[in-house]
Amino acid sequence: MKPIEIIGAGLAGLALGNALQANGIPVTLHEAGTLPRHRVCGEFICGRGSDALHSLGLGTSLRDACTHKSTVWYLQGRARLRQTLPKPALGLSRYVLDQRLADSFQETGGQLILKSRKKLNSRPIARVHCQGRKPARSDWVGLKLHCQDLPLEADLELHLGTSGYVGLSKIENNKVNVCALFKQRSGLKAKRTDYLLKYLKNSKLGYVAEKLCAATILPESHCGVAGVEFSRIPSSDSSKLFLGDAYSVIPPFTGNGMSIALEAAELAYPMLYKYATGTQTWQRTVNQINLLQHARFDSRLRAARWLHPWIHSKPGQYALGTLARTQLLPFKLLYSITH
Ligand SMILES: Cc1cc2nc3c(=O)[nH]c(=O)nc-3n(C[C@H](O)[C@H](O)[C@H](O)COP(=O)(O)OP(=O)(O)OC[C@H]3O[C@@H](n4cnc5c(N)ncnc54)[C@H](O)[C@@H]3O)c2cc1C
Repeated sequence: MKPIEIIGAGLAGLALGNALQANGIPVTLHEAGTLPRHRVCGEFICGRGSDALHSLGLGTSLRDACTHKSTVWYLQGRARLRQTLPKPALGLSRYVLDQRLADSFQETGGQLILKSRKKLNSRPIARVHCQGRKPARSDWVGLKLHCQDLPLEADLELHLGTSGYVGLSKIENNKVNVCALFKQRSGLKAKRTDYLLKYLKNSKLGYVAEKLCAATILPESHCGVAGVEFSRIPSSDSSKLFLGDAYSVIPPFTGNGMSIALEAAELAYPMLYKYATGTQTWQRTVNQINLLQHARFDSRLRAARWLHPWIHSKPGQYALGTLARTQLLPFKLLYSITH
């Protein structure tokens, strides 16, 4: 079997590494950071992601995930839209999920090298890029924390503010993930543990900040990331193989980025197996996977990018509120084109 190198031990890299390694293909996985770690993520697995994990033989990693069905959307602090998800979503922290996938990868003999930031300009054969979002100049900032003892009105509460939005949903052990995306305010100064609360207050979401302060915030879970950009879709003739966020970033309100990473691993695995067994060349493998990714993800990514301004801009929110109030918002249709 020919070996394969993967860059990035996020969901795409770990899921793919597990599938390859479990089928006898030697994998080296380079991760720039350490594991386990908290990541900025809504931890809301919505869409086909859990099916992809099951089909890769990794379903047990979701064993204590919460099942989510109900959602409520708030505008200016008022519940405007209550909907049941067409397909249940799952809630599990990345801290737990990524570590479980890393453990099973290593148990099957995979080589996981932590604190190994690979230079990406060299072009070795058989390298899969799963290194997440490209560093970008963007004015979006992502922030997240976990809480305990935080009652919710639905499995997912999504609160739309004046310069961003925040989602609250349950994860394992009765914890709640609180994850937000805001337009960056350069003048806003705060301690690391106060950023999310400050951004909430500055976006007319102070009532959410009060709710968090009345619960128990878990200090070690605070994390943030700047420069979040919803990248363009790469052309299908790329000579490199990018999966997950490294391929393209879907706006987080869809709760679909993790699914795309996991589905990409599922799509890529059979083609990479053919390469590893000597049945086809690396370049043909890359081309085939890229075509599959385009067919599966591009319309979803485009639809989500088009919808995103409706979620965070004033006129968009006004239109959403009106459609919700008059019960004309085609929630199921919007779900189907973004998942
Ligand atoms: C605010 C916010 C909320 C979100 N909420 C949700 C949600 O609720 N549901 C959902 O499905 N998705 C959500 N997402 C998106 C989701 O987090 C990503 O789509 C998902 O993590 C992508 O997985 P990945 O494996 O592609 O990349 P990542 O999980 O980002 O993993 C990439 C890994 O590569 C490593 N790496 C980077 N460069 C190198 C290098 N040169 N060498 C070695 N290693 C490297 C990084 O350290 C990282 O561990 C959210 C995103 C944001 C910003």
